Amino acid sequence: MSSSTEVLVIGAGVLGLSTAAELLRRGHAVTVVDPGQANASAVAAGMIAPAFEALADWRGSDGRLDRADLFRAARTLWPAFATAFDLPLHREGAEWRGPDPEAVAAQLRWLGFPAERAGDAVITPADWRTEPVAALSRLQGLPGLTVVAGRVLDLKTDGARWTATLEDGSGLAASAVVLATGAVTALDLPEPVARLIARVQPIRGQIAVTDRVLVDRAVRGPAGYVAPCPGGSVIGATMEPDRTDLSPDLTRGVALVRTCLAQIGLSESLPVTWRVGVRGATPDGLPMAGAAGLAGLHLALAPRRNGWLLGPLVARTVVDGLEGRAAGPFAPALDPRRFA
Ligand SMILES: Cc1cc2nc3c(=O)[nH]c(=O)nc-3n(C[C@H](O)[C@H](O)[C@H](O)COP(=O)(O)OP(=O)(O)OC[C@H]3O[C@@H](n4cnc5c(N)ncnc54)[C@H](O)[C@@H]3O)c2cc1C
Repeated sequence: MSSSTEVLVIGAGVLGLSTAAELLRRGHAVTVVDPGQANASAVAAGMIAPAFEALADWRGSDGRLDRADLFRAARTLWPAFATAFDLPLHREGAEWRGPDPEAVAAQLRWLGFPAERAGDAVITPADWRTEPVAALSRLQGLPGLTVVAGRVLDLKTDGARWTATLEDGSGLAASAVVLATGAVTALDLPEPVARLIARVQPIRGQIAVTDRVLVDRAVRGPAGYVAPCPGGSVIGATMEPDRTDLSPDLTRGVALVRTCLAQIGLSESLPVTWRVGVRGATPDGLPMAGAAGLAGLHLALAPRRNGWLLGPLVARTVVDGLEGRAAGPFAPALDPRRFA
């Protein structure tokens, strides 16, 4: 499909909006529909962190190096993506403070990332950062993008076109649809897509925000991280599988803040506000990006802890698939049909 297509993107998180931006850039007519409430993408710290996220995955699970290659490739797309859509991008690197810095530095290097010891810390220039709220707002405001406020209840095809029915009874039709609905959606979908979506596990995350500037780059450790954000710092984040409620859990939150502040040498308590979001995750921890197994329906879903890092790669993969272009090297690892 090389000519211009009308595409409906359902969901205005980082994956939906990144995909919409890439579609627009390639000349397609794009409508995004979303109810407009705060989502996981707005709650996130905005770290674009291939090095420390690859390290966390490699230590925590299957020992595969290909995760590091994929994360590195995703980050490589960020400078052009940020320039094309005028998104904030901070390249100050990130730091580890915790036990065994020599081993952490060696493991990062083994995964292919630069890492240096600085006293008890380990610094890598490989991890960057964006500002989620500003980036979402710039993507939503892209010239030529149509944004509709509403929740889709039902999605159907007659074989040629797709029709989404919204809760106010109105309909939106398009020749292709990108489903980017995050961790939780009550949307009625045809098989086999409904079965794929059912594989997405919600993982709740809670993060604290303070107006104190505590660090000048993300500082990570075994307990979590403290990272800069506009006007202060964020301290996070919990990983709470199968929880979808959005009320702050003060017991967990206060314990997290205390241990993260201790990592940067602070023992005082700080006034904070809480933000809670729900990430979607697949069984292998990588997103579903690409064709869903029904003509004209594509998925951009479930990037777990790395929606911001992976946004441009997911967008490129989904749009290449939608246009019928040759699959990039990471498309098989992201193909939603691996869970069919
Ligand atoms: C505390 C926390 C910290 C994080 N920090 C980072 C970080 O530093 N770096 C990083 O890369 N990632 C981070 N993440 C992960 C990242 O936020 C997620 O991976 C990412 O936001 C998921 O994006 P998404 O577009 O898939 O989903 P979402 O952002 O949840 O967006 C989905 C959208 O779809 C809409 N939607 C759902 N159903 C419907 C429907 N039926 N009709 C219309 N619209 C619908 C929702 O309203 C929502 O706006 C963090 C997450 C949390 C919770």
